[in-house]
Amino acid sequence: MSAKRDYYEVLGVSKTFSTDEIKKQYRKLALKFHPDRNNSSDAPEHFKEISEAYAVLSNTEKRQLYDQHGHAGVDGRYSSDDIFQGARGDFSDIFGRSGSGFDSIFESIFGRSGGGFGQQRGSDILYETSVTLEDVLNGKKIEIDLQKQIQCDICKGSGCKSGTIKTTCRTCSGQGQVRQTRNMGFASFVTAALCPTCRGQGSIIETPCGECKGQGRKKGTKKVTFEIPPGIDSGDYTVQEEGNEVPDGVNGDLIVRVRVQPHRIFNRDGKDIFYDHDISMIDAALGCDIVIPTLKGTEKIKVNSGSQPNTIIKLKGKGVTHINSRGTGDQYVRIVVNIPKKLNKDQKNLLNEFQKIND
Ligand SMILES: [Zn+2]
Ligand SMILES: [Zn+2]
Repeated sequence: MSAKRDYYEVLGVSKTFSTDEIKKQYRKLALKFHPDRNNSSDAPEHFKEISEAYAVLSNTEKRQLYDQHGHAGVDGRYSSDDIFQGARGDFSDIFGRSGSGFDSIFESIFGRSGGGFGQQRGSDILYETSVTLEDVLNGKKIEIDLQKQIQCDICKGSGCKSGTIKTTCRTCSGQGQVRQTRNMGFASFVTAALCPTCRGQGSIIETPCGECKGQGRKKGTKKVTFEIPPGIDSGDYTVQEEGNEVPDGVNGDLIVRVRVQPHRIFNRDGKDIFYDHDISMIDAALGCDIVIPTLKGTEKIKVNSGSQPNTIIKLKGKGVTHINSRGTGDQYVRIVVNIPKKLNKDQKNLLNEFQKIND
């Protein structure tokens, strides 16, 4: 195997580049060499090379180690999994928030799906909220102060007291797993098990951070913003990786339970809006102009003379867009004709006259 190339050279950046500039450059290269996009035979190897360079140079601690001690400084302390997992959030940013972006990269690099051996995942958090039909029409940005496990700000998630770093686990040499050979009669089976010393982490914290007791995380509050997309229905929606945080692992998800409040005057079914409008039997017979409220303001419509009870008038495009289908819905106005329940003497006489003429 040829000697490892300089990380800065691999990415074509200089040592003075900021993390942001490095990210930009990596993004450009990664999109070019991603095995899904690039068919050349050396694309996967090259992609792995630039991803590794980026994972190290985008992390302050690892970049410092690399600047001081070169490859030996980083490789001696971090397993390959550690290096890639550390940049997991960035990979997700670059290749899509779904996380499958990261997993597919991981798969293409290591030939297996995401997650290191013994990798931890944070637990999910449920957040309940209710929105109005008007919010459903326009979408809504929600900002919350979420109480959850967050990365320890003192040790930046490493769990180590400042000035110290994790050491490679001696039991498993940083692999996170140990091989056990069991003899069963004539055959022997080799199995891989979670390393009991480091619990799969591959590294040991010798001097824990006092703030988080070596956990790398602690209880805290984080501002989380997310969009309620237009056309949403009541239900559970996932904001990926905004749940309880796990340094060097995968954060849990934030599950947003949305309830769309019933509306005072409108009913909704998918992208269509239903509305009942009352008119008198005289207006139904003679015809009239009425003003209808919609989610987008008011609309003046004409009720034809001789309109029958429960006539439906469609207002095109006055519904909502629906999250699972294309186009905008309509508003359906049902004409409810009120028959007077009580008539005074004059009214009765007039109606009797009307009937006589009609006969
Ligand atoms: Zn800490
Ligand atoms: Zn170990």
